[in-house]
Amino acid sequence: MKKYILLFTISFITILLSNSCSTHKDSSTSYNISPKPSNVILMIGDGMSTPQVYAAILTSENATSFERFPITGLAKTYSKSHKITDSAAGGTAIATGHKTNNGMIGMDSDSIPVPSILEILSEKGMKTGVVATSYITHATPASFVAKNINRNNYEEIAMDFAKSDKVNLLIGGGRKHFTERKDGTNLIEQMVSEGWNYYDTLTNINENDKIMILASDGHLPSCPSRGNFLPDASVLALEKLNKSEKGFFLMIEGSQIDFAAHNNDSTYLVDEMHDFDNTINKVLDFAEKDGNTLVIVTADHETGGLTMIDPNGRYTETYFRFSTGSHSPLLVPVFAFGPGSENFSGIMENTDIIKTILKIME
Ligand SMILES: [Zn+2]
Repeated sequence: MKKYILLFTISFITILLSNSCSTHKDSSTSYNISPKPSNVILMIGDGMSTPQVYAAILTSENATSFERFPITGLAKTYSKSHKITDSAAGGTAIATGHKTNNGMIGMDSDSIPVPSILEILSEKGMKTGVVATSYITHATPASFVAKNINRNNYEEIAMDFAKSDKVNLLIGGGRKHFTERKDGTNLIEQMVSEGWNYYDTLTNINENDKIMILASDGHLPSCPSRGNFLPDASVLALEKLNKSEKGFFLMIEGSQIDFAAHNNDSTYLVDEMHDFDNTINKVLDFAEKDGNTLVIVTADHETGGLTMIDPNGRYTETYFRFSTGSHSPLLVPVFAFGPGSENFSGIMENTDIIKTILKIME
């Protein structure tokens, strides 16, 4: 009896193998279902859960970028200290794989600095970049570069950016934290003297490395006033980082989805979601063409407790309603595209995202 089972198993495997080989004309090519990607692009919609994504889908004339992803999952966002996270603990969980206390940047809950994926991949020789529409020193982008017990210590966080030898490209706002400092240091001048190329707009950037573009003293203007800043900055970052032989890691944040939702401003929110959607489309176009880039889109938390209802109970209208001016604990989406993307389905901890990327990149 056992023999028959064994024989059956062997012939079944043979059928499977011959089937899978039949799709490849050259039988000597080895086939790997999940080759290691060369590049990793992590995109974070600050304050973006499924209601915000659906707000973009509802108000978009064309199919959105979110509908281009073959793999979707969901992530739990609670922090070590709170059932509802802030962007510091949320950003740190995504950047480092450690749940920490609200307010803390790049540290675990015992205040011990922990390396971010940007730092780990930089040590492997990959080029790295951070793009945001807030201060570059704001909680989410800071979580990838700085270590601080308090997210509001912006000038100390700017100093960490200046001292970092792990980051090759920075684009965002927050110039004042580099130039109008209590210690009197002009960090931009210091960084330029140490080899950084500094600009305050996205145009005429000739260098390919050590580029810092701080386009605003504070946060960038909101959409639509800032035009195509985020998609343009992201395309520029891809162009510059893609010159790296050992691949690159890029974090892009749609920072102001959160600001709009804190204000319970649905027009601002929809504009920010379309801007982020437009940026994701540009990134997916790059990744599709490249064929060797893993793209993950997720969020640190939901903001606004957003939902859509028909106030008349007729199920025919979808009015936006916010239930809070703060954050909520909703699961956030995880969208994945490219080599290794199949690992991002199901319900996961926010800390699993980076752990999984690092496993794929081993
Ligand atoms: Zn927020």
